[in-house]
Amino acid sequence: MCSRKFFVGGNWKCNGTVDEVKKICCMLNNGEVPCPNHIVKSMLRTDFQVAAQNCWKGKGGAFTGEISAEMLANLHVPWVILGHSERRQLCGETDAIVAEKTAYALDNGLKVCLCVGETLEERERNETGAVVARQTAAVASKICCWANVVIAYEPIWAIGTGKVATPQQAQEVHYNLRKWLDCYVSPHVAMNMRIIYGGSVTAANCKEIGANPDVDGFLVGGASLKEDFIAILNARN
Ligand code: PGA
Repeated sequence: MCSRKFFVGGNWKCNGTVDEVKKICCMLNNGEVPCPNHIVKSMLRTDFQVAAQNCWKGKGGAFTGEISAEMLANLHVPWVILGHSERRQLCGETDAIVAEKTAYALDNGLKVCLCVGETLEERERNETGAVVARQTAAVASKICCWANVVIAYEPIWAIGTGKVATPQQAQEVHYNLRKWLDCYVSPHVAMNMRIIYGGSVTAANCKEIGANPDVDGFLVGGASLKEDFIAILNARN
Protein backbone atom coordinates (compact mmCIF):
# COMPACT_ATOMS: atom_id res chain seq x y z
CA MET A 1 0.00 0.00 0.00
CA CYS A 2 1.40 3.34 -0.95
CA SER A 3 0.50 6.67 0.55
CA ARG A 4 2.20 9.37 -1.42
CA LYS A 5 2.05 12.56 0.60
CA PHE A 6 0.60 15.49 -1.36
CA PHE A 7 3.41 17.89 -2.29
CA VAL A 8 3.03 21.53 -3.30
CA GLY A 9 5.98 23.74 -4.21
CA GLY A 10 5.85 27.48 -4.76
CA ASN A 11 8.29 28.61 -7.43
CA TRP A 12 8.91 32.29 -6.87
CA LYS A 13 11.41 32.40 -9.72
CA CYS A 14 13.28 35.70 -9.99
CA ASN A 15 10.70 37.63 -7.96
CA GLY A 16 10.54 39.23 -4.56
CA THR A 17 11.92 42.37 -2.97
CA VAL A 18 12.25 42.13 0.81
CA ASP A 19 8.84 43.79 1.23
CA GLU A 20 7.19 41.44 -1.22
CA VAL A 21 8.79 38.41 0.39
CA LYS A 22 7.64 39.60 3.84
CA LYS A 23 4.10 39.89 2.52
CA ILE A 24 4.09 36.39 1.01
CA CYS A 25 5.65 34.83 4.12
CA CYS A 26 3.03 36.55 6.24
CA MET A 27 0.28 35.15 4.02
CA LEU A 28 1.79 31.65 4.29
CA ASN A 29 2.38 31.82 8.01
CA ASN A 30 -1.22 32.87 8.62
CA GLY A 31 -2.68 30.47 6.08
CA GLU A 32 -4.75 27.52 7.17
CA VAL A 33 -2.62 24.81 5.65
CA PRO A 34 -1.85 21.29 6.67
CA CYS A 35 12.58 29.96 -1.85
CA PRO A 36 14.96 30.56 -2.83
CA ASN A 37 17.00 31.87 0.02
CA HIS A 38 18.10 32.01 3.54
CA ILE A 39 16.16 35.17 4.40
CA VAL A 40 12.92 33.43 3.46
CA LYS A 41 13.73 30.46 5.68
CA SER A 42 14.12 32.67 8.72
CA MET A 43 10.74 34.32 8.06
CA LEU A 44 8.68 31.19 7.52
CA ARG A 45 6.91 28.78 9.81
CA THR A 46 9.03 25.67 10.25
CA ASP A 47 6.45 23.42 8.58
CA PHE A 48 7.34 25.01 5.24
CA GLN A 49 10.55 23.85 3.61
CA VAL A 50 12.64 26.06 1.39
CA ALA A 51 14.12 25.11 -1.98
CA ALA A 52 16.83 26.68 -4.08
CA GLN A 53 16.04 26.98 -7.78
CA ASN A 54 19.35 25.68 -9.07
CA CYS A 55 22.75 24.50 -7.93
CA TRP A 56 26.13 23.78 -9.44
CA LYS A 57 26.71 20.34 -10.95
CA GLY A 58 29.73 19.39 -8.88
CA LYS A 59 31.91 20.42 -6.00
CA GLY A 60 31.95 24.17 -5.38
CA GLY A 61 34.95 26.20 -6.46
CA ALA A 62 35.79 28.81 -9.09
CA PHE A 63 32.32 29.05 -10.66
CA THR A 64 31.31 32.70 -10.38
CA GLY A 65 27.60 33.24 -9.92
CA GLU A 66 26.81 29.66 -9.00
CA ILE A 67 25.68 28.20 -5.70
CA SER A 68 26.94 24.77 -4.73
CA ALA A 69 25.06 21.84 -3.23
CA GLU A 70 27.49 21.99 -0.30
CA MET A 71 26.57 25.63 0.32
CA LEU A 72 22.85 24.85 0.26
CA ALA A 73 23.27 21.93 2.64
CA ASN A 74 25.37 24.13 4.89
CA LEU A 75 22.62 26.77 4.93
CA HIS A 76 20.10 24.03 5.80
CA VAL A 77 18.20 24.57 2.57
CA PRO A 78 16.76 21.08 2.16
CA TRP A 79 15.45 21.15 -1.41
CA VAL A 80 16.62 22.22 -4.83
CA ILE A 81 14.57 22.54 -8.02
CA LEU A 82 16.59 21.20 -10.97
CA GLY A 83 15.94 21.05 -14.70
CA HIS A 84 13.25 23.73 -14.76
CA SER A 85 12.46 24.49 -18.40
CA GLU A 86 13.57 28.10 -17.89
CA ARG A 87 17.02 26.76 -16.95
CA ARG A 88 17.00 24.26 -19.79
CA GLN A 89 15.87 26.82 -22.38
CA LEU A 90 17.47 30.05 -21.19
CA CYS A 91 20.67 28.69 -19.70
CA GLY A 92 21.33 25.78 -22.04
CA GLU A 93 21.05 23.06 -19.42
CA THR A 94 21.03 19.73 -21.24
CA ASP A 95 19.56 16.44 -19.99
CA ALA A 96 23.11 15.36 -19.12
CA ILE A 97 23.83 18.49 -17.07
CA VAL A 98 20.52 18.18 -15.21
CA ALA A 99 21.32 14.53 -14.47
CA GLU A 100 24.78 15.44 -13.19
CA LYS A 101 23.33 18.17 -10.97
CA THR A 102 20.69 15.81 -9.62
CA ALA A 103 23.22 13.13 -8.73
CA TYR A 104 25.56 15.61 -7.07
CA ALA A 105 22.79 17.32 -5.10
CA LEU A 106 21.44 13.98 -3.82
CA ASP A 107 24.95 12.84 -2.86
CA ASN A 108 25.24 15.98 -0.77
CA GLY A 109 22.04 15.33 1.13
CA LEU A 110 19.68 17.62 -0.76
CA LYS A 111 16.23 16.60 -1.93
CA VAL A 112 15.51 17.29 -5.57
CA CYS A 113 12.43 18.49 -7.39
CA LEU A 114 13.29 17.36 -10.92
CA CYS A 115 11.38 19.15 -13.69
CA VAL A 116 10.55 17.54 -17.01
CA GLY A 117 8.19 18.52 -19.81
CA GLU A 118 7.68 19.02 -23.51
CA THR A 119 7.40 22.06 -25.78
CA LEU A 120 4.23 22.75 -27.74
CA GLU A 121 5.89 21.52 -30.96
CA GLU A 122 6.87 18.27 -29.27
CA ARG A 123 3.31 17.77 -28.00
CA GLU A 124 1.91 18.45 -31.45
CA ARG A 125 4.28 15.82 -32.87
CA ASN A 126 3.01 13.35 -30.24
CA GLU A 127 6.42 13.21 -28.58
CA THR A 128 5.38 14.10 -25.03
CA GLY A 129 5.90 10.62 -23.60
CA ALA A 130 9.24 10.20 -25.35
CA VAL A 131 10.55 13.59 -24.20
CA VAL A 132 9.57 13.05 -20.58
CA ALA A 133 11.04 9.52 -20.66
CA ARG A 134 14.29 10.80 -22.23
CA GLN A 135 14.68 13.53 -19.59
CA THR A 136 13.99 11.04 -16.78
CA ALA A 137 16.23 8.36 -18.30
CA ALA A 138 19.20 10.77 -18.28
CA VAL A 139 18.77 11.06 -14.51
CA ALA A 140 18.16 7.32 -14.10
CA SER A 141 21.54 6.67 -15.67
CA LYS A 142 23.24 8.68 -12.91
CA ILE A 143 21.36 7.85 -9.70
CA CYS A 144 20.21 4.67 -8.02
CA CYS A 145 18.27 6.00 -5.04
CA TRP A 146 15.10 7.95 -5.84
CA ALA A 147 13.80 8.31 -2.29
CA ASN A 148 14.66 12.03 -2.17
CA VAL A 149 13.31 12.94 -5.60
CA VAL A 150 9.98 14.44 -6.61
CA ILE A 151 9.30 14.73 -10.34
CA ALA A 152 7.48 17.81 -11.59
CA TYR A 153 5.81 17.40 -14.95
CA GLU A 154 5.65 20.89 -16.42
CA PRO A 155 4.54 21.17 -20.03
CA ILE A 156 6.46 24.19 -21.29
CA TRP A 157 3.46 25.52 -23.21
CA ALA A 158 1.55 25.76 -19.92
CA ILE A 159 4.15 27.62 -17.88
CA GLY A 160 3.17 31.20 -17.17
CA THR A 161 0.83 31.19 -20.18
CA GLY A 162 -2.53 30.68 -18.50
CA LYS A 163 -2.93 27.62 -20.77
CA VAL A 164 -3.25 24.85 -18.24
CA ALA A 165 -3.11 21.17 -19.21
CA THR A 166 -6.49 19.50 -18.90
CA PRO A 167 -6.83 17.13 -15.95
CA GLN A 168 -6.87 14.27 -18.52
CA GLN A 169 -3.67 15.47 -20.20
CA ALA A 170 -1.88 15.75 -16.85
CA GLN A 171 -3.13 12.35 -15.68
CA GLU A 172 -2.09 10.68 -18.94
CA VAL A 173 1.49 11.97 -18.80
CA HIS A 174 1.83 11.18 -15.08
CA TYR A 175 0.42 7.69 -15.59
CA ASN A 176 2.80 6.99 -18.49
CA LEU A 177 5.77 8.36 -16.57
CA ARG A 178 4.91 6.12 -13.62
CA LYS A 179 4.67 3.18 -16.02
CA TRP A 180 8.09 4.12 -17.42
CA LEU A 181 9.54 4.19 -13.88
CA ASP A 182 7.95 0.81 -13.21
CA CYS A 183 9.61 -0.69 -16.28
CA TYR A 184 13.01 1.00 -16.26
CA VAL A 185 13.67 1.85 -12.61
CA SER A 186 11.57 -0.33 -10.30
CA PRO A 187 7.97 -0.98 -9.26
CA HIS A 188 8.81 0.33 -5.80
CA VAL A 189 10.12 3.65 -7.11
CA ALA A 190 7.16 3.95 -9.49
CA MET A 191 4.64 3.40 -6.73
CA ASN A 192 6.25 5.80 -4.30
CA MET A 193 7.36 8.58 -6.65
CA ARG A 194 5.47 11.80 -6.22
CA ILE A 195 4.77 13.17 -9.67
CA ILE A 196 3.52 16.71 -9.37
CA TYR A 197 2.06 18.96 -12.05
CA GLY A 198 3.17 22.50 -12.89
CA GLY A 199 1.96 25.02 -15.46
CA SER A 200 -0.63 27.72 -14.81
CA VAL A 201 -2.01 26.05 -11.68
CA THR A 202 -4.51 28.33 -9.93
CA ALA A 203 -6.97 28.19 -7.06
CA ALA A 204 -9.67 27.66 -9.70
CA ASN A 205 -8.18 24.60 -11.42
CA CYS A 206 -6.15 22.89 -8.68
CA LYS A 207 -8.90 20.71 -7.26
CA GLU A 208 -9.83 19.14 -10.58
CA ILE A 209 -6.22 18.46 -11.62
CA GLY A 210 -5.27 17.33 -8.12
CA ALA A 211 -8.10 14.81 -8.00
CA ASN A 212 -6.34 12.58 -10.53
CA PRO A 213 -4.82 9.41 -9.06
CA ASP A 214 -1.35 10.04 -10.50
CA VAL A 215 -1.17 13.75 -9.68
CA ASP A 216 0.58 13.97 -6.33
CA GLY A 217 0.79 17.73 -5.96
CA PHE A 218 1.86 20.88 -7.78
CA LEU A 219 4.74 23.14 -8.62
CA VAL A 220 3.28 26.62 -8.76
CA GLY A 221 4.82 29.75 -10.24
CA GLY A 222 2.67 32.86 -10.61
CA ALA A 223 -0.06 31.80 -8.20
CA SER A 224 2.47 31.06 -5.44
CA LEU A 225 3.04 34.79 -5.12
CA LYS A 226 -0.60 35.39 -4.28
CA GLU A 227 -3.26 34.48 -1.75
CA ASP A 228 -4.36 31.82 -4.27
CA PHE A 229 -1.50 29.67 -3.06
CA ILE A 230 -3.28 28.86 0.22
CA ALA A 231 -6.16 27.32 -1.72
CA ILE A 232 -3.69 25.35 -3.85
CA LEU A 233 -1.95 24.02 -0.72
CA ASN A 234 -5.39 22.82 0.36
CA ALA A 235 -6.35 21.30 -3.00
CA ARG A 236 -6.68 17.82 -1.52
CA ASN A 237 -8.36 18.84 1.72
P1 PGA B 1 3.32 28.99 -13.52
O1 PGA B 1 4.84 28.44 -13.41
O2 PGA B 1 2.55 28.38 -12.40
O3 PGA B 1 3.47 30.49 -13.41
O4 PGA B 1 2.81 28.56 -14.86
C1 PGA B 1 5.10 27.12 -13.04
C2 PGA B 1 6.58 26.87 -12.96
O5 PGA B 1 7.32 27.43 -13.79
O6 PGA B 1 7.04 26.12 -12.10
